[in-house]
Amino acid sequence: MSRRSLPMPALIASVTPISLVLLATLAQPERTWAQAARDAEPAVKRANDAVRQQLPFGDRQDFEDATRGLIAAVPDLVVKGPGGRDVWNLRDYGFLQRDEPPPTVNPSLWRQARLNSLNGLFKITEGVYQVRGFDASNMTLVETRTGLIVIDPLFSVEAARAALDFYYQHRPKNPVVAVIYTHSHPDHYGGVKGVVSDADVASGRVRVIAPYGFMEAAVSESVIAGNAMGRRALYQFGSLLPPGERGHVDDGLGKAVSRGTRSLIAPTDVIVKNLDRRTIDGVEIVFQLVPGSEAPAEMHLFLPQTKVLDVAENATHTLHNLLPFRGAEVRDAKAWSRYLSDALEQFGDDAQVLIAQHQWPTWGNERVKDLLRKQRDLYKYLHDQTVRLLNQGHTPSEIAEQLRLPATLANQWYARDYYGTVSHDAKAIYQRYLGWYDANPAHLDPLPPVDGARKYVEYMGGAAAVIERAREDFRQGHYRWVAEVMNQVVFADPDNRDARELAARAYEQLGYLAESATWRNAYLVAALELREGAPKIPSAPFVAPYVLEALSLDMVFDAVAVRIDGPRAAGKRLVVNWNFTDVGQQFVLNLDNAALTYVKGKQAKNADAAVTLTRGAFDALLQRRSVAAASQAGEIRIEGDPAKVTELLGLMDEFDPAFEIVEPKRVKK
Ligand SMILES: [Zn+2]
Repeated sequence: MSRRSLPMPALIASVTPISLVLLATLAQPERTWAQAARDAEPAVKRANDAVRQQLPFGDRQDFEDATRGLIAAVPDLVVKGPGGRDVWNLRDYGFLQRDEPPPTVNPSLWRQARLNSLNGLFKITEGVYQVRGFDASNMTLVETRTGLIVIDPLFSVEAARAALDFYYQHRPKNPVVAVIYTHSHPDHYGGVKGVVSDADVASGRVRVIAPYGFMEAAVSESVIAGNAMGRRALYQFGSLLPPGERGHVDDGLGKAVSRGTRSLIAPTDVIVKNLDRRTIDGVEIVFQLVPGSEAPAEMHLFLPQTKVLDVAENATHTLHNLLPFRGAEVRDAKAWSRYLSDALEQFGDDAQVLIAQHQWPTWGNERVKDLLRKQRDLYKYLHDQTVRLLNQGHTPSEIAEQLRLPATLANQWYARDYYGTVSHDAKAIYQRYLGWYDANPAHLDPLPPVDGARKYVEYMGGAAAVIERAREDFRQGHYRWVAEVMNQVVFADPDNRDARELAARAYEQLGYLAESATWRNAYLVAALELREGAPKIPSAPFVAPYVLEALSLDMVFDAVAVRIDGPRAAGKRLVVNWNFTDVGQQFVLNLDNAALTYVKGKQAKNADAAVTLTRGAFDALLQRRSVAAASQAGEIRIEGDPAKVTELLGLMDEFDPAFEIVEPKRVKK
């Protein structure tokens, strides 16, 4: 079970400024965690056994759908990347081939993890294919008269190239004539350079189609709060967990995210009008714009000739996230439901196959309509009932505890908690309308975690007394409480090994109980880090290069501003003019009152310094090229005081990509 090295923490790379190149060079420590992980407690075995009686495991329709149209599979697929490391490895998930779930995995999640392991090239209908199980997402391929449309080129270049090659092994090798991004999340565009080149797009041989707002959404989500999102994503996706019955089994929406090189090519054809149409080499496509649903920029596609409806990521085989707990702006459940209702009205009578860019299709008009209706009602029910309960005065945890889906939804596998959960989605809806505060002033200004924890433990008679009582609660199966109370002891004293181990055991049992893959991952990562500490990841350069080059200068200055160390900047006043010769833009940057602001299209008369440079030279400065070296090499020209430019850039803070989560933050430096 133990692995020589850890999988790369791919999601750090997916949502933070850390470059994959950097991550690839990290030495991965030996992990002994697989041995440390305990077996399921008797209470967990009983609870997991009970799940098998509660849900319709006899219903095998999903397995039929997930294998229908199979042309060829590669069940032990391994895709290699730079330096020979694994970008994708299904072989490590061979343990999922057993039908019978182990006691350490919720049987419902085990079933989902098995479905998400199925891979290969599948025929959806005449001329429409999918490559599934080469990444978290699907690559959908639509054959045109003489070419091929690629819908969503996966997360990484290597995975996308492998998927397209696999398709070509079994189908005509016609050239890609168009790439369509259904939405702005990286598992739907990051592999684009594995299927087409910049030159293909620049020459017009390939058009790249995306929904309105795509580019801004794609590059901005990971910039402002990227470091924190990346760290939190390690919990959501469990990227540091070894695959196994006591470790990682799934992500809920797919097996995992591939760990290769990411890329981005800007769209050349942006869909700005709802229900706009295109005909691409004989294939007609209708686009339904659904902004602010699962992603800020997203669209559904309907192919009238083949009657295929592609709902991107808005109706998959799981309850989705209204707020992924990696962190994001909260999504709109009401709009999400409305868009599915619109799709049903617009295409429901015609659609014969429903596909999404994750997981398997649904065939037959009646079943398509039924799934769309129930997914529509799923998000509407969560929205309306959460709002009803909050208007009755219930707080987020009270709502999460009592809210249950009606049986007509709860008995649908695709409405279950694999990725989002009823619990944290209800909290997201509360947050959307009322924010973080539950209106109880005891929660308005509580002591921060360490100070509060010390008081709690002191009042409860000291750490040893708390641990003793918690051990009894652990024996009785009260894992949620044990995790909560041990969290207090660990925050009061992170060096208390007994508290850390008992907390780890409680998290572990919670992980084994969880139907949600994301909850399981979070709990098991917590257990791992309590036993071994937070991972060691060096601080990253400013922003991953392929993201940086796609950012507008406004966005770059916003990203610089959130790195300015306020206390160090206090009392300083700096005015710097920036003149970008290649892109023809000018900015004045003002640092005053420890806040960095800018004015576009202007140069200040009384600036401390004026910098003339290209965008590329500026990006290099942000990636730690020194001002002096850049000046000497003639990459930048400075009038006034060059020291002021160095001073300004020197005020940028370093972010720790592996800050502590389940224990107090250690003071660094
Ligand atoms: Zn996705």
